[in-house]
Amino acid sequence: MRIYPNPKFNQPVDFQSITTEDIKSAALSVIERANSQIGELTGTQANEKNFENTLKSLDEIYSGLSDIFSIIYLLGFVHPDNDIRNEAQAKISELEKFENEISLNEAIFEAVQQYSRSEEAQNLSGYKKRYLTKVLQNFESSGFLLSKEKRDELKALKNRLADVGLVFDTNISEYQDFLFVTEEEIEGLPEDYKEARKQEGGTYKIDLSYPSYRPFMQLSVSDEARRKLYIKYLNRAAEKNPPVLLEMIDLRQQIARMLNFQTFAEFQLANKMAKTTEKVWKFEHDLIDKVKTKAEQDYAELAEIKSKTTPNASEKEIKNWESAFYNNVLMKEKYEVDNQKVKEYFEMNNVINGLFRISETLFDIQFVELSEKSVWQEDVRFFAIYSNKQEIAHFYLDLYPRDNKYGHAACFPLYSGRETENGYNKPLASLVCNFPKPTPQKPSLLPHDDVVTFFHEFGHLLHSLLTTSPLGSMAGTSVANDFVETPSQLFENWAWNYEALQMFSLHYKTGEVLPKELFTKMWDSRNVGSGLFALQQIFYGLLDMTFYDKFDPKSGQDTSDVVKNLQDAISLYPFVEGTRMEASFGHLNGYAAGYYGYLWALVYAQDIFSEFTENGIFDTKTGKKLKTNIISKGSTSDEYEMVCEFLGREPNNSAFLKSLGL
Ligand SMILES: [Zn+2]
Repeated sequence: MRIYPNPKFNQPVDFQSITTEDIKSAALSVIERANSQIGELTGTQANEKNFENTLKSLDEIYSGLSDIFSIIYLLGFVHPDNDIRNEAQAKISELEKFENEISLNEAIFEAVQQYSRSEEAQNLSGYKKRYLTKVLQNFESSGFLLSKEKRDELKALKNRLADVGLVFDTNISEYQDFLFVTEEEIEGLPEDYKEARKQEGGTYKIDLSYPSYRPFMQLSVSDEARRKLYIKYLNRAAEKNPPVLLEMIDLRQQIARMLNFQTFAEFQLANKMAKTTEKVWKFEHDLIDKVKTKAEQDYAELAEIKSKTTPNASEKEIKNWESAFYNNVLMKEKYEVDNQKVKEYFEMNNVINGLFRISETLFDIQFVELSEKSVWQEDVRFFAIYSNKQEIAHFYLDLYPRDNKYGHAACFPLYSGRETENGYNKPLASLVCNFPKPTPQKPSLLPHDDVVTFFHEFGHLLHSLLTTSPLGSMAGTSVANDFVETPSQLFENWAWNYEALQMFSLHYKTGEVLPKELFTKMWDSRNVGSGLFALQQIFYGLLDMTFYDKFDPKSGQDTSDVVKNLQDAISLYPFVEGTRMEASFGHLNGYAAGYYGYLWALVYAQDIFSEFTENGIFDTKTGKKLKTNIISKGSTSDEYEMVCEFLGREPNNSAFLKSLGL
């Protein structure tokens, strides 16, 4: 038993010697322990209930489970051994089910409700009050305040929604269609792309997957072929999904109404940073006109390059299926950055040094690499963070690709920081990335995109590790969905700031700093099309909000009318008749009144960063304020209030608009 219990409190896991048996026994023991803790929590006499033996205990049940669950979850995605990964995957779903059962446990609800009526509970303040409210809210949204009959009805609606949502997603992922194009129509695409799609008889078969669609839209010189492919792409699942979408919206509406909300969006937003639908509508509408100014400049630039490069271009208009193509031409003609050259300034160890030095300066912490480590793969690195000479957290860096490893870049929080009877449970997390692997001839050189990704994920990592939350459920990245990407997107800014880059973008051979001229080119190319992109995000956000806040699925109105109206009002690219993008807009199920969160989190990230551009990007006072008011707090305070407290004012969107290059 090497995973559970920990070999010693606050000692890291012995990953190197983990076996499938360890995973089995860890999952079993952690469930047993939780069950006995639940027994204690629910067994306490009503008049003896207090915060410690009710809410703190509940937090410990969830956090204790989560510590072990997270380790097993990580193993399921990164361990090189098949058996271990498979065993971990099996236990992940078992533990998820168990956690779901806890959230529906009647006895726990009664215990919490009983406690909530006590005098102590009525007088709680700060994070304790907030935690009680959140726990009760969660029970309420599971229908615990409804009659048995109504609750069963709610359960049935939720089950039906899960099924219908799955059908919606599957109709998208399984949808297949192809465009057969001639040699002429595929002109512009590279040979390997063509080779992979070649048919007998000299035609090419283009499917609608991203690796097929995207290059074709960027590179095919045939307007007509791109138009056909675009229309096919926007008609994915168009036959099957419109009625499914209507039912999905209807079910969500019914669920919201049963829980006393007018609309599903209202229900979804109640425990987000935004809180109300009005705030989200206002947020989006405040952006439209100003973002449009940049989008119009972007559009004019595309039209200009079109008239320059297409001799007989009859019109100044850019069609939907021309935008990616001319954007690509524009990048080549005017903004091309030699990415091979840029890479040479971002050797992995220099980037890590940069990240460390920036974080050390801002947050008054120190990083120490630990040579004594037990890891799942030999090249995984292990670090400790110190603050005031105290070791406060640990983390792993698993940086390079290998077979069967998780394929993207992400932060995996492992242990959540919290107070325990033995002292503070130190947070632990791992970054799992897929950066270019060094070879004996060449070190790992990162494209600048990867540098930005590294900063982004490191932002999540610090949010997890610098937490001082007394409760695990409120620690680190446990904040509302529409705020969780704020610290990470905030951190990206240092990877885009020349003053910061000068510190670590050193040529791997000569040690020369990234030339200012090259940086300026990178900066200019970053802002190409930024307005059009942001406008598209606003459109998606509003579409999602409209369906879940201002649309009656029983009215008989066609969902594509909703798309048409919005698109014509917002986008510079008018709606194309005969398309149904909503049928394959999977976020309508995944996010459901949450898509706005992408832009929301970014706008606040840029506003926060504006304090650094004003006071200095290495300003320790501003850094300290950021740590105290936001990064260390987890969700112990209201997210909006945290931002206001940091800024000393209400947040606004002007820094974001400036970041688009306006
Ligand atoms: Zn992120």
